[in-house]
Amino acid sequence: MTMQVGDRAGLTDTGRRRRRNEDSYVLDPPLFAVADGMGGAQAGEVASRLAAAAFHEYREADELEPERRVEALVQEANRRVYERSREDANASGMGTTVTAALVEGDSVAIAHVGDSRAYRIRGDALEQLTEDHSLVADLMRSGRLTPEEAEAHPQRSVITRALGTDPEVDVDTFAVGLKPDDVFLLCSDGLTTMVPDEEILRIVHESSSLDRAARALVKAANKRGGEDNVTVVLFRVDADGADPPLDETVRLDPPARDGDTDELEDTLTEAAPVPPVAEPVAARAPAEPAARPAPAPPRRRRSRRAFAVVAALLFVALLLLVAFWGLANAHFVGAEEDGSVAVYQGLPYDVSEGFPLYRPRYVSTLHAAQLTQEERTELFDHELMDYGAARDRLARYEDEGVP
Ligand code: CA
Repeated sequence: MTMQVGDRAGLTDTGRRRRRNEDSYVLDPPLFAVADGMGGAQAGEVASRLAAAAFHEYREADELEPERRVEALVQEANRRVYERSREDANASGMGTTVTAALVEGDSVAIAHVGDSRAYRIRGDALEQLTEDHSLVADLMRSGRLTPEEAEAHPQRSVITRALGTDPEVDVDTFAVGLKPDDVFLLCSDGLTTMVPDEEILRIVHESSSLDRAARALVKAANKRGGEDNVTVVLFRVDADGADPPLDETVRLDPPARDGDTDELEDTLTEAAPVPPVAEPVAARAPAEPAARPAPAPPRRRRSRRAFAVVAALLFVALLLLVAFWGLANAHFVGAEEDGSVAVYQGLPYDVSEGFPLYRPRYVSTLHAAQLTQEERTELFDHELMDYGAARDRLARYEDEGVP
């Protein structure tokens, strides 16, 4: 059965913490995409907009099969971002994620680089279709982090694959089968790090149109802190000849749907679906125990109680001592928000949002995306060591002469 795009909507918002919006999106049925840019000054915006523009303009791929076409679009977008970053010193090191979807026939072709995501909502199930190319996703895949630890990880926004770092980019592409009434969501990590999967599903179900759903999703992300730019693109597919596509500027109640029982083959060909297990972003690393003022010494209370107080104080003092020792002597290898590999002094945790227990002591010109998966797993294992050892460890990769 041939499917067509029905209701659809796209929305981007700066969020509540960032000053600029570095996200872009494409709502050009049957082609959809989100791009989340990164880089100093305004480079992140430039990167994501260049990628989105390439999607609008590049028509040479029109002859290709859907999966090859959407991949060719991503490669073209990559070339443009890469070339600009080489020509323009201000744009050096910029990059962007891209998650794109192209609806054709009875399937949707997905192409994906970075940590933006594609989801399919079918009935009561929300299925994540893409795998994040990020530092924490690598650590989770190698079993070093649990999903809960990954969510609270201070470097959860570091991506390991991006457009713009190399002349060619490794793109995940696959096709997913369609059934009437399937809804697809493409979004930047500003949504998924703020709003748990169950709430995303609930909002889409409870909204009377996808335009309203997009607004409600952005609102939910901002309500939970809005720490990053948030972008959502939503589209619904219908059997060809069903409801005509709605103009996204016109808000209508959803057309009544009679339970279409046409059993379509679910042709999930290559996707590696990751079951939605997101938990609310709440559990941060436990805060350092603060030294409380010593209680006024009891007169002649039971000595057992005095002993307990002294023991507790000693324990706190010991914890603080260990923490200070850790902060002063421990170093680990990680990566900055823009992907630059760095040596950090301290421990790889936040005391609370925005108060990390570590600071960069050395930032390398080496980029996380220039390393192989194995190298990243080896380098970013959070093993604590002294500064010299951390530098030596990094020097090996720097000496390998990455372009
Ligand atoms: Ca982001």
